[in-house]
Amino acid sequence: MLVEQDLTLELLPNGGWDARIEVVQVGDLVRSHLIYTQNFTVVYDTLLGPLSGAYLARRAAERGKPVLVVDSHSDWDHYWGNQCFSAPILGLQLTAERILGDFGKAELSKKSEEHASYGAVKLVAPTIRLQGETTLDGGDLTLHLLHTPGHRPDHLALYIPEIRTLLPGDAVETPFALLDEVNPQSDLEQMEATLERFLALDVDWLLCNHAPPQAGKELVRSNLDFYRRLKHQARLSDSVESLIRQFPYTGPADADFYRKDHARICQAAWSAAHP
Ligand SMILES: [Zn+2]
Repeated sequence: MLVEQDLTLELLPNGGWDARIEVVQVGDLVRSHLIYTQNFTVVYDTLLGPLSGAYLARRAAERGKPVLVVDSHSDWDHYWGNQCFSAPILGLQLTAERILGDFGKAELSKKSEEHASYGAVKLVAPTIRLQGETTLDGGDLTLHLLHTPGHRPDHLALYIPEIRTLLPGDAVETPFALLDEVNPQSDLEQMEATLERFLALDVDWLLCNHAPPQAGKELVRSNLDFYRRLKHQARLSDSVESLIRQFPYTGPADADFYRKDHARICQAAWSAAHP
């Protein structure tokens, strides 16, 4: 079906991960995950707006279990479907503050200018505002909500130990996770700590928002390696330009978005290494 920005929404066929999880993909842009436990159905991220969000709300309600929404963080492509849910929406207190403050308003006005479909979006914040990490007892599955900053300060990843499955949100991505824009030094430290924490978990399946579903945690390792090499090279380089030469962009050739962000992240790493 077509959703916001005329993108195609599809329910991916199960590729070998636990059958209690469904992956919903919108174009090449983003994914959301439905987790069916004995006690409730969890929707981890609500996608782009009232069209994609309504699909998720319908799908989640079909099993007849109570529905819980979890917002991974306050970037638009993860929570703009919130308005479609009468279910409780869990997220960090900081996520609610960002959605209801200048950050949320600025994103909505920018995207509304880019595409008319975003005119129908209403900013809805989490209704259950967490002060930190928490655990949801689904009966058969335990869902650990992990506070994992680095990409955003309000980021929640989701780990399910019984099936060794990590849903890292935006903190792991192909070709690299995108760094926050608050303070280069602390953003880089948090990113590294988050990726190290993921790497220490037992992971059979990695279900990312911005990378295809995959077995194992090789992508966690390569994201961490990216940031470690960047930090090392930043110390050795005498300018941002030389850092970008020494640590060139190696992602997809046609991905302008990642190429630009690579330059931005290099700038951050260089200024963190040369305060
Ligand atoms: Zn994000």
